[in-house]
Amino acid sequence: MEFVLPNLPYSSNALEPYIDTITMEIHHQRHHGTYLANLKAALEKYPDWASKEFEFILANIQQLPEDIRTAVRNNGGGHWNHSFFWPLMTPNSTKQPVGKLAEAIQKTFGGFEAFQEKFTQAALGRFGSGWAWLVWKDGQLVVGSTPNQDNPLMDISEFKGKPILGLDVWEHAYYLKYQNRRADYIKAWWNVVNWEQAEANFLAAQRA
Ligand code: MN
Repeated sequence: MEFVLPNLPYSSNALEPYIDTITMEIHHQRHHGTYLANLKAALEKYPDWASKEFEFILANIQQLPEDIRTAVRNNGGGHWNHSFFWPLMTPNSTKQPVGKLAEAIQKTFGGFEAFQEKFTQAALGRFGSGWAWLVWKDGQLVVGSTPNQDNPLMDISEFKGKPILGLDVWEHAYYLKYQNRRADYIKAWWNVVNWEQAEANFLAAQRA
């Protein structure tokens, strides 16, 4: 994941009617674009840091120079989270987990519906802006959430692990279509989850 805005792996209207076109365009170009621009501006002041692996930077937020620490936490998190999020959606969702991840979800949560309920509660229960996550931690699947643009790779995160699935629950992700109805957005989002990408993330997390 470099410091560039990734293209969406589908057209901006591809996730209709679940995620509307205008939201996708503003979310990707303006919100994600701004996080990236702000991240680059912060790192520009410290070339030694700018040359490090992105995930190393996120895992060492506390070591960053104080004057860019908050900017990198917020905007670096914003860039990583959104870059991770876009490929986790597809207009051709299998609607169900696949492969080894499906087996692990069955084993850990007792079934897909029980997992969906737990993840949905994490997404609904995150007060204000943040993300819901499924991570791999200490050989286990774990569901949780983070505030703002924090993510489970960060040393300062209250919830840690290797991300497998993530859901943006900032209002900018759903307000145009769903207004204050976060539950309706989450319910719709399940229709566009890219389970093949989630499984690839799962396999990569186990190798790491
Ligand atoms: Mn967002």
